[in-house]
Amino acid sequence: MKVLVVGNGAREHALAWKLLQSQSIRQVVCIPGNGATAALERCQNLALSVDDFEGIGRFAQVHNISLVVVGPEVPLALGITNYLQSQHVKVFGPTKEGAQIEASKSWAKALMDEAGIPTARSAVFTELEAAKAYVTEQGAPIVVKADGLAAGKGVTVAASVEEALAAIQDLFQSKVKTVVIEECLTGQEVSVLALTDGLTIRPLLPAQDHKRIGEGDTGANTGGMGAYCPAPIMTPELSKRVHQEILEPTIAALKTRGIDYRGVLYAGLMITPEGDPKVLEFNCRFGDPETQAILPLLETPLEDLLVACSQRKLAQQPPIVWKSGVAACVVVAAGGYPETYKKGQEITGIEQAEAMGATVFHAGTSRRQQQVVTDGGRVLGVTAVGENFDNAIALAYAAINCIQFEGMYYRRDIGYRVTTASST
Ligand code: ATP
Repeated sequence: MKVLVVGNGAREHALAWKLLQSQSIRQVVCIPGNGATAALERCQNLALSVDDFEGIGRFAQVHNISLVVVGPEVPLALGITNYLQSQHVKVFGPTKEGAQIEASKSWAKALMDEAGIPTARSAVFTELEAAKAYVTEQGAPIVVKADGLAAGKGVTVAASVEEALAAIQDLFQSKVKTVVIEECLTGQEVSVLALTDGLTIRPLLPAQDHKRIGEGDTGANTGGMGAYCPAPIMTPELSKRVHQEILEPTIAALKTRGIDYRGVLYAGLMITPEGDPKVLEFNCRFGDPETQAILPLLETPLEDLLVACSQRKLAQQPPIVWKSGVAACVVVAAGGYPETYKKGQEITGIEQAEAMGATVFHAGTSRRQQQVVTDGGRVLGVTAVGENFDNAIALAYAAINCIQFEGMYYRRDIGYRVTTASST
């Protein structure tokens, strides 16, 4: 079969890489893809924009594409699935109605409150003064969020009332019209990505990301600086609770709203000091970098699961099979990220890193003649599999030692919670 993958990041590289491991995949086409997807065997890039729904639909029809897999949230929120379904093209990813669970935090909060899903207490504001008064009354720490998609940059975890007030002021001064203000939760964050066809839910192995730019989880929030899988904090009991208290009621609440949700339901959770899972956010697509750490452990052919979701046949799939061992992904970023950074720096050593046994997913790269150059803030995801976290993380860092570009930055403490060095 031929599959089309929409997007150009490391997540899409990982999806294409995983799909191509299956003999039943004849070809993967990435729209627009990146320098690395173009170089994969049986894979080609197509220079269409991710919001060119007509172009994507026409290509899928003419080239007999069996499934379109949508990576990023923006085309989902814009209705790529609605359009492709109207053209009778099979697609993995929710409709724009379903994508609101990520695209509007106030909508997601209302859904959670209605369905009794555990999450931070919150209030929604469309007026600056009312928002400020609420923060002053609640006190700090407190969390201020832009309602809509902000590529991970719309959230301020404010340690003081002044910081929260400044964040509110900034949001209303930019184009943001609605702001969500939330109770600040503490604990460990974990990502549970579940596949669903709107009826059946199959969670993937849980993963933990590292959101902050600095070691020891300090500094600005980013798109994610590294991940590992599975996350030991998710015990079987906790997984069961997440299924029963969060995933099932969410799909049921979506159904009540007339939404037939097929795709990834990504629950970003906080495990509180009391051991309770609470939802920080939902995403409507595969997470990045989590996907880079989850997919290398997947034994079941990915396309079987994705096609089953799109056809409402997930219940007929055998249980998902996982490889033994664990995986870790360390994100290599351009110096300055998540603020300003340079592009166009030549990258060397990727082949040597892969020769050591790591897999290097490309997040922000492009090709200039024969060279791979930086083309984004997060540049590479260096992923390694091992029989335990010590091995996997050591291999990922050894592989990174082969890689060089001017100004490269990565956290040196990815996986600090799960390595033996940290627990002794
Ligand atoms: P992304 O685009 O990375 O998915 P986002 O912009 O949608 O992020 P959230 O995931 O809601 O925003 O929040 C980003 C980060 O802010 C979370 O991963 C968490 O570290 C922190 N955060 C969000 N809400 C809370 C909260 N209520 N209490 C404490 N921390 C929070």
